[in-house]
Amino acid sequence: MSALPRRLLLASIHDVSPRFESEVDRLLDLLAPHVGKRLAMLVVPNHWGDAPIVSGSPFATRLREWAEQDVEMFLHGYFHRDTAAHGAGRDRLRARFMTAGEGEFLGLSRAEASARIADGRSLLEDVIGRSVDGFVAPAWLYGSGAREALHEARFPIAEDHLHVWSPASGQQLAKGPVITWASRTRLRLASSLAAAAALRRAPIEVLRIGVHPPDVRHPALMRSIHRTLAIAARRREPIHYSEL
Ligand SMILES: [Zn+2]
Repeated sequence: MSALPRRLLLASIHDVSPRFESEVDRLLDLLAPHVGKRLAMLVVPNHWGDAPIVSGSPFATRLREWAEQDVEMFLHGYFHRDTAAHGAGRDRLRARFMTAGEGEFLGLSRAEASARIADGRSLLEDVIGRSVDGFVAPAWLYGSGAREALHEARFPIAEDHLHVWSPASGQQLAKGPVITWASRTRLRLASSLAAAAALRRAPIEVLRIGVHPPDVRHPALMRSIHRTLAIAARRREPIHYSEL
C-alpha cells in the first residue's frame, strides 16, 4: 500500500522592490500566521528602471535579513516592464492585453535575456550573500530566448501559471494553477475573487498562492487572500520550492 500523497502549499510575494517596501511588509504580515517564513520573494533588481536595489542600502539589508531567515529568493526579471519590440503579432497581443506591458522576458533574445539574468543575479547574490533559489519571469511569460537563457544559467527552479520546473535539469516539479489576484479592473478583481474561492479547496497536490503589492489597496482582496491562506494552510503543509 502506498501512502497518500502529501498536500503541499507554496506561497510567494511578487515584485519585491524598494518601490513597494511598505506593501511587502503588509503582505508578509498577512502570510506569516499561515506559512511563517516558508515563502518565496520574487525580487525585481530595478523596477521600471527607476527603483534600483542598491548594495548597502537599508532595503538591501532587509533583503539579506529575509534571506538569512530562510525566505527563498527568486530573481524576477530585471526591469519587470516589457521594453522589447515584439515581432510576432500573437506575442505582441499577449504581452499587451494579458499583462499591461509587464512581460519583460517574453520578447527578449537569448543574448538579451542572458545579459539581464547575469546582471540581476550578481546584484541580488551580492546583496543577500548567497545563491538565488530560482527565476520567475514577470507575468509568468517566457519567450524561447528566455527559456534557453534559463537553461544555460542552470537555475534549479522556475514557474509559470501552470507548472513548476527545473531549467537546470528540464524536469517538471509540480503542476496546477497558481492562485493569484488581479485588481486592474473591477471585472478582473471580481473574477480573481471567484477563482480563489473555487481553487483554495481544489484537490491539487501542490497549491501555489502568489500575492502582489497592489493587492493591499483592496480590502475585499486582502480578505480573500487571508481566507484562502487560512483554508489552504489548514489542510496542507507549507514548504519551500526547493523541497519539491
Ligand atoms: Zn511581477
